[in-house]
Amino acid sequence: MTKLNSDVIDRFKGTLRGPLLQPADAGYDQARTVWNAMIDRRPALIACCAGTADVRAAVAFARDHGLPLAVRGGGHGIAGNAVCDDGLVINLSGMRAVHVDPQARLAFVGGGATLGDADHETQAYALAVPFGINSTTGVAGLALGGGFGWLSRVMGLTVDSLVGAEIVTADGERRHVSQQQEPDLFWAIRGGGGNFGVVTQFEFALHPVGPLVTAGLVVFPSAQGRAVMRQYRDFVNSLPDELSVWAVLRKAPPLPFLPSEVHGQDIVALAVFSPLAPDAALPMIAPLRGFGQVLGEHVGPMPYTAWQKIFDPMLTFGARNYWKSHNFTALSDEAIDVVLRYAGSVPTPQCEIFLGLLGGKANEPAPDATAYPHRHVQFAMNVHGRWTDAADDARCMGWAREFFAAAAPYAAGSVYINFMTQDEGARIREAYGANYERLVQVKRRYDPENLFHFNHNVPPGLP
Ligand code: FAD
Repeated sequence: MTKLNSDVIDRFKGTLRGPLLQPADAGYDQARTVWNAMIDRRPALIACCAGTADVRAAVAFARDHGLPLAVRGGGHGIAGNAVCDDGLVINLSGMRAVHVDPQARLAFVGGGATLGDADHETQAYALAVPFGINSTTGVAGLALGGGFGWLSRVMGLTVDSLVGAEIVTADGERRHVSQQQEPDLFWAIRGGGGNFGVVTQFEFALHPVGPLVTAGLVVFPSAQGRAVMRQYRDFVNSLPDELSVWAVLRKAPPLPFLPSEVHGQDIVALAVFSPLAPDAALPMIAPLRGFGQVLGEHVGPMPYTAWQKIFDPMLTFGARNYWKSHNFTALSDEAIDVVLRYAGSVPTPQCEIFLGLLGGKANEPAPDATAYPHRHVQFAMNVHGRWTDAADDARCMGWAREFFAAAAPYAAGSVYINFMTQDEGARIREAYGANYERLVQVKRRYDPENLFHFNHNVPPGLP
């Protein structure tokens, strides 16, 4: 790493259209803050890029000066790789433009856009990309790792709708990638994370959705959790693709449709979603109500964009978070018992365990069709430790780790990279699965010096 004197920094600043922030500058703290408050890093420089030219200049600057380089999209990466100590951060929050071509059914999405930005623009034409479940999440990190949410059973993963991208690679070049152009690189960015360059723009195929969809929550007491979860497991085994149901186990938040005496009690909430209108969706949902005594429910038509924001209040910036995740191909009775045992001992009311349902179109492509390999997985389970006081770190992380270990014997032995924390380097091969070796080949070609290593890293290895 070369020493950065003020002349060098000023010259770099002169090449940028967006601001270059140093620790004493106004806005520096905001620009280095990420979603997970456990991450508190102080870069030497933050390039708040205004366009592709800025990104190219920043990549070249980091490379030429041997600076650690991190890339921030929406800042929601649980591992905190979007920010580094002492090096340069490429912050893309100024590149959130979304352009929709409704005739071609394409969306052009900036590298710093959030899911909410993209949903807002695409829903103006009743179109959508299958993204995740929290509108403040960045499109970039989510898409580069695979990306799944409510629409995935009908439309596949986010990467399955990616038809092209503009990417700045370690040599500072801007490349356009697609099935036809640099197909290996295009394959690698569909699940290989931020290893291969800075994506300045994504091009997604759009699907007709909404604007009204059918969605909501059906809530049961955890005292009936075993029966509810076993019936849930059996129910989703033969579910049409047009319905998705995720299970969330936690203490009841003060939701208006729950009686006040239920607030704070242990619950199993089934979150249901269908892109269909209520007359088609509600009969599919109806059997759920028979799983136990319903404490409260709120299911019906609502705008897709509203449902995409429904969990935002529980997933705000500023809390400390620690995740542990397993993929499951099936949910055994024993696995359900472990889930219920640990859901009954959450260390804070903000902690939760959720089972995200995959299957349907998300599982149709071959495991090597894109770099995202887990096409046989039925549930992605996330143990979400969340709290506010640093004094609770050990207790909350201990709960998540203990549960993770107890559930391991029943899990698939793989993990979704976007749910991995920073201390899980040993699971990286598990996360990329059989696609790991091909990712190494692509990495060697496009980033032989491993400039992009603040991510779930695929080192280029020896030639
Ligand atoms: P960042 O922290 O900005 O980026 C993460 C990493 O991606 C960076 O370290 C970098 O390596 C890389 N990166 C970011 N931007 C770029 C870019 N433009 N070019 C190249 N590399 C880049 N995932 C799902 O699939 N489905 C969900 O429903 C879902 N829900 C979530 C809800 C919450 C509240 C949170 C915190 C996360 C959720 N995730 C979900 C996980 C999410 O996919 C990852 O956290 C993802 O990394 C977030 O992307 P980001 O751009 O916001 O994060």
